[in-house]
Amino acid sequence: MDTGSQKIPVGISECLLGEPVRFDGGHKRNRFLTDVMSRYFDYRPVCPEVAIGLGIPRKPIRLVATDKGTRVRGVADPSLDVTEALAAEADKAVAAMPDICGYVLMQNSPSCGAFRMKRYGENDHPLDSEGQGAYAQRLMELHPLLPVEEAGRLTDPGLRDNFITRVFAYWDWNQSVAFEPTPARLVDFYSRYKYQVMAHHVPSYKSLGRLVAQAGSRDIHELRDEFLREFMAALGHRATRKGNTNAIMHLRGYLRGLLDADEQDELSRVIESYRLKEVPLVVPLTLLKHYLLKVDNPYLQKQTFWSPHPEKLGLRNANVD
Ligand code: SF4
Repeated sequence: MDTGSQKIPVGISECLLGEPVRFDGGHKRNRFLTDVMSRYFDYRPVCPEVAIGLGIPRKPIRLVATDKGTRVRGVADPSLDVTEALAAEADKAVAAMPDICGYVLMQNSPSCGAFRMKRYGENDHPLDSEGQGAYAQRLMELHPLLPVEEAGRLTDPGLRDNFITRVFAYWDWNQSVAFEPTPARLVDFYSRYKYQVMAHHVPSYKSLGRLVAQAGSRDIHELRDEFLREFMAALGHRATRKGNTNAIMHLRGYLRGLLDADEQDELSRVIESYRLKEVPLVVPLTLLKHYLLKVDNPYLQKQTFWSPHPEKLGLRNANVD
């Protein structure tokens, strides 16, 4: 995926950019985000706690499970309750950034934490890890299809690959279909993503194909919305080694009768090495691409499966499941 000179607008917890906005006046600069992804992402930073006027430094807050639901309260002063204020900040941010194609949130924050946040009981004892930061929760309610990830989880190569794939796909969707949908644009979009979706989730590959077949006979706006829901859910499944191998085997079908015996053997050996976790995905893909140059087929050439994100990121060089 090449965005040309354009950078993709992405929301981010401000402390991840190295801004000293944390409760203690510190920051949580994330080098991968600031030094690598900033080449492709145009960050839109928000610190919801500063935005609601808590100041720097400020007294810590935390999630408390109450009979009125999960609240964000002061640790030292439980009468301080900023739950609604943080949620309202998410409303403002979503309205102010209608073009964002992803969001990176700071983990372990009662405002920005997206997953498995620690909650306390009203008796001050830790209760569970079922919470979600108040800002993050509202953001994800308002923007349910937006790719969202916590910075801490991006150290996992599989989650990193999945999040970045979804951000680039969402951006591509906004460029190609979202605002002026036509049956032709929808068909063209899905024809580029078929093998990508197959690698992520085969049932979605089939159901999205059935949806796209309705283009021209259904209201295009309704179809666009249904397609996007299913498409983003499909990409939400991680492309496993098994899924990638399946997509590779289907692409290999286009080479039937075009390779000599040695080439066939070499390709089989490399695909098998990938399946057995001996080599990363980039290895069979490079060889397959090399052979597919023998086939003058624009449909194959435009598949996003070859590079759903910039090759320079090297995300497919990691030997992950
Ligand atoms: S985690 Fe969120 S609220 Fe906390 S400092 Fe970072 S941006 Fe601000």
